[in-house]
Parts: sequence; C-alpha cells; structure tokens
Amino acid sequence: MHLGRMGEFRTPDPAVTRRHARLEVDMEGRVSLIDLGSTNGTFLNGLSIDTAPVVDGDRIQVGTTIFEVSCEARRVCPLCSTQVRGERAVYGFAARWRGSGVAFCCPGCLTVWRFPLGVAKATVLATGAVVRRAIERMTRAAEEGREGEEAARLDPAWLRKVPEIVRLLTPAVDG
Ligand SMILES: [Zn+2]
Repeated sequence: MHLGRMGEFRTPDPAVTRRHARLEVDMEGRVSLIDLGSTNGTFLNGLSIDTAPVVDGDRIQVGTTIFEVSCEARRVCPLCSTQVRGERAVYGFAARWRGSGVAFCCPGCLTVWRFPLGVAKATVLATGAVVRRAIERMTRAAEEGREGEEAARLDPAWLRKVPEIVRLLTPAVDG
C-alpha cells in the first residue's frame, strides 16, 4: 500500500511525492514503512527514515501531512473471541493481492480469517470444519507414512501452513 499524492493513503499535499512511501506486511503481520526515494523524505514519530517497523499509535509524516497508524484489525477471532497470535499466521497477502493483509488460523475454532490491513472487518477464508477435515486427512496420512503425498494434494495450498498440519509434516525429533 502506498502513501502519497497517489495510492491507498492519499494527500493532495504539494510537498508530497506521487508515490512517497510504501507500507508492507510480512507473514507474521508485522508492518514496515519504506520511503520510496521521495523528494522531502518520510518521517516516523519525527525521525527521518528509509525503512522502519511500524506499530499501532505511530505517526507517519510526509510533507506537512501526518498519518496516525491504527491497526483496527485486532487479532481476535470474530467467531469465538480467542486471541490469535502471530505464529498462527498462515498466509501473507502482500505479494499476491493488491493491498495487504494476513490470514490467521484461530486456535479455538480453527477458522481461517483474512485480516486486511487497516480494515476492521475480517473475512472467512476457510471454516473450522474445512480445516478440521484437512487435519484429519493429514493425521491419517501421517499414520500411514504418506504425509508428503497428502500435503501435495491439500487445496488450497496454504492449508499446509496451518500449525496443526505443519506439525504433522515435521518429523518428530527422537530423544
Ligand atoms: Zn475462533
């Protein structure tokens, strides 16, 4: 996502470059601010930056415009209210879709949610029943020693990133 006179976070400020800075989200849902070689620079909490991590409550200044960072998409399962932590991230969307966000698998009900960045409403990518069936199939396959074969068949492929399935795919360490 871009900040500038063009982009998702837009300002008509003449001191701002068309594409002034970019926000990126990684697989764990961490957000980075990157200056795109702008004429007047990008400031985070008053300091000039090239690249810097951004958290809730930070202030980004471009030209005379200040953006206050508010991560509205709280990592709480909208269905069962279980707190969803970073290690439950199953997919980063920054590269694949326009806009950015991250998908999380709820440890309580196994629903996979997509949390688009800066949007309060999460959307369901897969219901708990779908994820549970995939885990059951993988458990059976692991018992029969054909987990690789089953993993290749998992559709959509990001089901392989669900932590319960990752564990089935990782051989147990003896001793
Ligand atoms: Zn849940």
